Amino acid sequence: MRIVLLGAPGSGKGTQAKKLVEKYGVPQISTGDLLRAAVAAGSDLGLKVKAVMDAGNLVSDDLVLGLLKERLAEDDAQKGFILDGFPRNLAQAEVLEGVLAEMEQPVEHAVLINVDADEILKRILARAKVEGRADDNEETVRNRMAIYKEQTAPVAEFYAEKGMLSDIAGVGSIDEIFSKVVSALN
Ligand code: AMP
Repeated sequence: MRIVLLGAPGSGKGTQAKKLVEKYGVPQISTGDLLRAAVAAGSDLGLKVKAVMDAGNLVSDDLVLGLLKERLAEDDAQKGFILDGFPRNLAQAEVLEGVLAEMEQPVEHAVLINVDADEILKRILARAKVEGRADDNEETVRNRMAIYKEQTAPVAEFYAEKGMLSDIAGVGSIDEIFSKVVSALN
């Protein structure tokens, strides 16, 4: 089971990824988590990455790809993976194809959790108050959404053109959305 999970920040993509991990027994690989771990390690590079993330901008493709490749090489990823937060732009989607082709582990399915922009903004601003994430203030959220629209939304189109995309309405309860995701994968 090798899946790319797509969706705007606040779409509930991370929650669905965790449920897929439980059901299919493959790891969730979140480039946001990999980056946060790099930041927590406190290196000079980590500080630069933190500034980029706090502003809601994308970290450089090379850096993210380096972290991702290391993660894909670990044992647990050999049986499959749920990619969460990668690819974030068309260049990453293209590089990913090459990397996975070399590993003979191509993506089998892309799933878009589709939620409209107004609903997303409402959700993330509510989450910002609860979790106090530095990248969840209103200005950053708007920036992340603009980047999503300009750079990440075309990635869904990239997989759609290959006939690999399931476009799932991300409304309703977590379990309702999850059952739609599972039916799309079967
Ligand atoms: P996420 O946890 O997926 O919302 O990611 C949090 C932040 O990490 C994003 O706003 C970006 O700054 C950065 N990030 C995560 N994944 C990527 C990626 N594939 N390419 C570039 N930046 C990324």
